Amino acid sequence: MRIILLGPPGAGKGTQAARLVQRLGIPQLSTGDMLRAAVAAGTPIGLKAKAIMDRGDLVSDDVVVGIVADRVEEADARAGFILDGFPRTVAQAEALDRLLEARGARVDSVIRLVVDQDELLARIAKRYADQGRPDDNPETFKTRVDAYLRQTRPLVPYYQKHGCMTEIDGMAPVEIVAKQIDQALEHCAARV
Ligand code: AMP
Repeated sequence: MRIILLGPPGAGKGTQAARLVQRLGIPQLSTGDMLRAAVAAGTPIGLKAKAIMDRGDLVSDDVVVGIVADRVEEADARAGFILDGFPRTVAQAEALDRLLEARGARVDSVIRLVVDQDELLARIAKRYADQGRPDDNPETFKTRVDAYLRQTRPLVPYYQKHGCMTEIDGMAPVEIVAKQIDQALEHCAARV
């Protein structure tokens, strides 16, 4: 299955993606992780992306679409994948649809994790204290949430129109969220 996890930073996408990797045996494709690896390796893409990521803004569509296009060609992603943090703009979603269509495939299921603003702030403050990820600092985090609302939120109507999207309460305990995701995937898999 080709699955998208959609939701603001701190919604629990990474946690649920890791669980799905175990359950379904398909890889998690996190553009955030791929970009952080490029930054750490000092590649040309990493050098370009670093300042943008440090500010909490979005890296250009061309760059991320290029990364994902290469990654989905790899052998382990042939049978499916879980996209975590991609797409983040309507242009990225359209590029993904075109990319998959050209290979006779499609996005099978979009899982939207809904979490309220106060809870997001509390979760990220904790993650910042625990892991010290630089772009989790309160100021940058605000920019990331703004970017989500302005640029990524329009994917909700996009996938309401173009896909099999399920909204799940991301405030529920992790196991309940996991169970509801499993049900949503079954529902979407049964779709013709
Ligand atoms: P994440 O780990 O998903 O929160 O991503 C960390 C940062 O990487 C984001 O704040 C963006 O600067 C960049 N990034 C990750 N995925 C994307 C994407 N699909 N489009 C644009 N920028 C992205």
